[in-house]
Amino acid sequence: CGIIGAVADSAIKPVLEGLSRLEYRGYDSSGISILADNEIKTRKVQGKLNQLKRLLSEQPLEGKCCIGHTRWATHGKATVSNAHPHQCGRVAVVHNGIIENYLHLKEKLLQWGHHFNSSTDSEVIPHLINHYLSQHLSEEDAIAKTILQLKGSYALGVLINGDSNNLYAIKQGSPLVISQGVNGAYLASDAMALGPDSSKIYYPKDNELIKLTSHGIKLCNPSANRKIHYINNSYCSK
Ligand code: GLU
Repeated sequence: CGIIGAVADSAIKPVLEGLSRLEYRGYDSSGISILADNEIKTRKVQGKLNQLKRLLSEQPLEGKCCIGHTRWATHGKATVSNAHPHQCGRVAVVHNGIIENYLHLKEKLLQWGHHFNSSTDSEVIPHLINHYLSQHLSEEDAIAKTILQLKGSYALGVLINGDSNNLYAIKQGSPLVISQGVNGAYLASDAMALGPDSSKIYYPKDNELIKLTSHGIKLCNPSANRKIHYINNSYCSK
């Protein structure tokens, strides 16, 4: 029901704080994925955010590129395996919204030999992106090609285990905000979820692919040459 992401030193901190600020939307489970030692590491729980925080204090994670999710189940029960992020190979995804044609996409992926760990509509997304990456498409093209096949609503945070610490964000119909701070780049479902480093925000248009890196935020093709016009975040008093 809410997504958040950060490319920053100790990215887990702004992500957990953001998830806490998204609590008001209601949720039944939560989870995070982080890039650590060239690997995607994930922690998920059913129930309250406190349980995720407890799990992370027992099994800590550190990294510079992190995504998080609070889930309000629409497809598949509120269980740990249905909690986001969902991963396939090099790709982990948090999704807010509903993929209406997921059964059709899932059938196709099953025929291609993919195995699924959840009964959500969302899990087809990392599978499709990873499929196109394995066909040697670039990260941007793999996401763009996946998006073309999705019917429904989505705000996505996409974490790709590649050469660098990159996060991607894209939306259609679901809320999404991007922020460039002094210490990092962030994405969230709601400007309210962003912390004090997020005084400048941008609301992406539908299907505008955005890349968040440690060097800043970029619009991808076909808008690559367009400049992002940030506005002030009224939730951020600093
Ligand atoms: N439809 C997705 C699911 O059931 C996402 C729900 C949400 O936005 O929290 O897992």
